[in-house]
Amino acid sequence: MEQSSYEFELERIKALIKEIGARRVGLQLPEGLKTVALALSAEIAKETRVDVILSGNSCYGACDIDEKLEGMVDLLFHFGHTENPFRKGVYKIQEKVVFIELRSTVNIKPVVESAIAEIKGDCVGLVATVQHVHALEEAKIMLARAGKQAVIGKSNNLKYEGQVLGCDFFTAKVPCDEIVFIGSGSFHPVGIALYAGKRVIAADPFTMQISVFEPDELRKKRYIVIGRALDAKSFGILISMKSGQFKLNEAIALQKRAVAKGLEAFLISLEEINEERLLGFKVDAFVNTACPRLAEDFIHFKKPVLSINEFEVVLGERTWEDIFVLQ
Ligand code: SF4
Repeated sequence: MEQSSYEFELERIKALIKEIGARRVGLQLPEGLKTVALALSAEIAKETRVDVILSGNSCYGACDIDEKLEGMVDLLFHFGHTENPFRKGVYKIQEKVVFIELRSTVNIKPVVESAIAEIKGDCVGLVATVQHVHALEEAKIMLARAGKQAVIGKSNNLKYEGQVLGCDFFTAKVPCDEIVFIGSGSFHPVGIALYAGKRVIAADPFTMQISVFEPDELRKKRYIVIGRALDAKSFGILISMKSGQFKLNEAIALQKRAVAKGLEAFLISLEEINEERLLGFKVDAFVNTACPRLAEDFIHFKKPVLSINEFEVVLGERTWEDIFVLQ
């Protein structure tokens, strides 16, 4: 395999295959890394002589294990995520799923230097995706040298201090003026800004890009969607069939509470929730019980798609101030 910016832990993978005498293994990679799947597969097959099956399905998080493939192989290597917190509750990940965290090998110093210039306050919360959590202490020292106090929050459910998921920002719940996020893309920093209610400075060590996310602007967009749903009389309550996102009891309870308020509510189960799949259902609005960040993807959809908290505002059970809470 070519040199990469991530630790694929090939030696560990090969050793595990040999150790248990696996004959068939599966590889599940996030979308952006499917481009290296063939090289990875060839390398593993060449040295271990196992059959390697690549998952072509989604790989959004540890909530999204390819269970059909898991049933066909001796070991399933799931890349890019840590195994928690979905072990709790309904989903029981079997021992045959091995999580490869894909730690970054990129130096974070240059991008942290750039981020420091954007910090307005004296104290920041410091968070990262699992790919960069090992660099947080180094970033903290750099910030201290620049006269900024940095706090790395303890986690409730996640494996590492300072680690965030797209649906778990508990480590951002620290006394601070703003948050510095180390990682790629806007999915995590948008969620942190929304739920922590603080300005987020996102530093991407791969692209060297610094982006700033303001909570008020982001929250306003969600308030507009909720406002559109206030007159809705019928709701489709969406249940994801991904076992790490499966919330059947919560969906049924929401349906009962909606009916008690004189609304119509229908339960709809889906493997993949996207606009095309929702078009045929003639309800006024939808409520998403799957990935809590999914409703944001439907911002331009012709019907409002609400999160559970947002729907509780429509039901009159929650205040607008309580929609975004860090638990
Ligand atoms: S944000 Fe959504 S996709 Fe990502 S881990 Fe959480 S539930 Fe899964």
